[in-house]
Amino acid sequence: MAASSGEHHQPVKEQEEGGVQEHEDEAGWVKAHTDCAHLNKVTSGLENLARFDAPCSKCEDPKENWLCLTCHEVDCGRFVNGHMLAHSAEADHPLAIGFRDLSVWCFACEHYLDAQVIPQLRPVFDALHLMKFGVPAPPRAEPKSGERQVIVVQTPA
Ligand SMILES: [Zn+2]
Ligand SMILES: [Zn+2]
Ligand SMILES: [Zn+2]
Repeated sequence: MAASSGEHHQPVKEQEEGGVQEHEDEAGWVKAHTDCAHLNKVTSGLENLARFDAPCSKCEDPKENWLCLTCHEVDCGRFVNGHMLAHSAEADHPLAIGFRDLSVWCFACEHYLDAQVIPQLRPVFDALHLMKFGVPAPPRAEPKSGERQVIVVQTPA
C-alpha cells in the first residue's frame, strides 16, 4: 500500500541561456545574469540622454529613480510610488537601470543583469557612472572560476 509514487524530483535549475554569476553582499546571495532575452529592448544612445539625478516623470520624486532602457523615461522605484514597475508593465519595457547603485533589473525575468559585461548595457552604465562618481567605471576582468565578485545591490524597483 505504501508504494512510493516513483516520481523524481529534480532540483529546479536556473535558466540555461546566459551565464549566471553569483554575487554576495551582506543581505545574502543575489545573482546578476550576463544575458537575458530582453536585451534587444535596450535602445542605443541612452548614454547621451541619461541623467542620474532626473526626477520621476510621473510624480517628480527626485530620489534615486530608475531609467527605462527602452524609451529613457525616468520613474521612481517601489518604495516611492512604483512608477517604473507600472511603466514596465504598461509599455512592455522590461529593463531599467537604478540610479542609486547603477544596477540593471529586468522586470520580465525578475533578475539583475551585470551591466559591466553586457555590451548593450555598458555604454549607459559607463555614462551614468562617470556622471555620478566623476570617474569612468573601472574595467573588470572576467571573473576566474571560484572567485566571487562583490556588488552592491538595491531592492528591485
Ligand atoms: Zn513616481
Ligand atoms: Zn520605457
Ligand atoms: Zn529579461
